[in-house]
Amino acid sequence: MESQTSALEQRLDELLAPWAMLHRYSGGRLFLEPPHGLRSCYQRDRDRIIHSKAFRRLGYKTQVFINSAGDNYRTRLTHSLEVAQVSRAVCSALQLNPDFAETLALAHDLGHTPFGHSGQDVLNRLMRDHGGFEHNCQSLRLVSHLEQRYLEFDGLNLTRSALKGMLKRPIIYDCDASLAPLRDERARENPALEAAIVDACDRIAYIHHDLEDGLDAALLDLEELNALPAWRESWHATAQANGERFQRARLPLRIRTVIRAMMNQAIGDLIETTRGRLAEQAPRDLAEVLHADHAEYPVAYSREMRERLAELQKFLFQRLYRCSRVMQMSRRGERIVEFLFGEYAAHPALMPDHYQERIELIGLYRVVSDYLSGMTDRFADRQFAWLSGRDTDRI
Ligand code: MG
Repeated sequence: MESQTSALEQRLDELLAPWAMLHRYSGGRLFLEPPHGLRSCYQRDRDRIIHSKAFRRLGYKTQVFINSAGDNYRTRLTHSLEVAQVSRAVCSALQLNPDFAETLALAHDLGHTPFGHSGQDVLNRLMRDHGGFEHNCQSLRLVSHLEQRYLEFDGLNLTRSALKGMLKRPIIYDCDASLAPLRDERARENPALEAAIVDACDRIAYIHHDLEDGLDAALLDLEELNALPAWRESWHATAQANGERFQRARLPLRIRTVIRAMMNQAIGDLIETTRGRLAEQAPRDLAEVLHADHAEYPVAYSREMRERLAELQKFLFQRLYRCSRVMQMSRRGERIVEFLFGEYAAHPALMPDHYQERIELIGLYRVVSDYLSGMTDRFADRQFAWLSGRDTDRI
């Protein structure tokens, strides 16, 4: 079904491929709003995310390294900006909708708990008998219910396409029943090409920046990396391409140059492979992409790049995500989340009034999960220190 579009949106649609998420496919908004004269519907979606509280909190949430470990490491905020930048570039090269992709990229990590993946795992365990916790479901809950910025509606009232694009898998919490029709549609469709591009760019971004941050933090060892064929080949190719200048550069700059070259190659490969498949399959329009029974979904890497990324990811998993320093930070985070969950569940009056007000409607545990998962690392730290009477540096 096509939505009404403004003159600006019609002009933008003319520049995009027929299989892109055109503005006329936005699906409109759950709460009806007139179009804006100066911004397209997806630009408005993106702007609403940038101005949300949940987005600002990403600056104080751990990706891999605890937020206070150093000022140069990525946070979820800088990671989201990097994913948005890469996604825009890939989409523009493929005549896909860069504003739509940017919206999804900026929103993709909104629902993460404090303390990285360990926070999510422990919250999911604590919520096992109360509907579980999943960060994608939580992102959707934030933009559709929890953000309070508008008089007319809860949440940000994003376009239906953006909400559907945020549904990586067709699952929502029971308390978000208003999203059930979108979930059911999503269950019957392939993802939009832009959504799959954002997913791929998320992976490209975190693999390469975790390598860089891991080396900077001296948690990864260059000798160990040299044992990886993918790394060795890229090092040699970059050294050859840059000659003397590369040899004379300081080691950290050489490392950065190699990682930058690897990332560029992965992005180029994603663009070329996807372009090739689209040319081969020649879908007539977006509907054909969404409903085709793809043996080969168009968004993909070449086999060589797929193997290279898998090799790097395996290395990071074994050497970085499970190294003792990261494990210590994770365990520390888990204990804080566990403690706070118990406190708020036992004493709901410790939560702010506007959270307590929702208990009757959606149940105590979902409210605790909403409150706790929205916290930044440092806020959770402070709450823990305050409520436990303990110094978090000594647990
Ligand atoms: Mg991410």
